[in-house]
Amino acid sequence: MHRVLVLNATYEPLSIISVQRAIILLLKEKAELIEAAEERLHAARASLPVPLVIRLVYYVRIPRQVTMAPTRHSVLLRDNFTCQYCGTAPGRANLTLDHILPRSRGGQTSWDNVAAACKTCNVRKGNRTPEEAGMLLRRRPGRPHYLAFLLLAQAGAQDLWSKYIFLEAGT
Ligand SMILES: [Zn+2]
Repeated sequence: MHRVLVLNATYEPLSIISVQRAIILLLKEKAELIEAAEERLHAARASLPVPLVIRLVYYVRIPRQVTMAPTRHSVLLRDNFTCQYCGTAPGRANLTLDHILPRSRGGQTSWDNVAAACKTCNVRKGNRTPEEAGMLLRRRPGRPHYLAFLLLAQAGAQDLWSKYIFLEAGT
């Protein structure tokens, strides 16, 4: 069964709900249909498109950002399972968590000091900073937007959602 991405009135991703709940929101006119599957649902009296993305009619205030620790998994997910030095995607098992300023030199495990790195790049960089190693990061790492991150983690096969979900560095 599909799940449905809910966007705020401002088009920010808000949550993921069941098709059933989405249909209730649509029928109560609390949300509008943004994207639907090709198949239709056949209810007693009507046939409805299966919603994939809906948008709330009213703005919902998003609670303040929840603190989320950078872990190997969450960092690899943020970095899209791509080495942030050479840009290859060698698969989860071949990626490491690189401390940009090495731990041995006081580098912290914080969102702005860790990046996904393939084993080759990690070994090559060794105990150096990117500048010292002449290995530039493809983008400045930062704390991902919590909700976008959660949604991305859940999205999986739902490629359609990706255009509504952005990872924002910083904040
Ligand atoms: Zn690499």
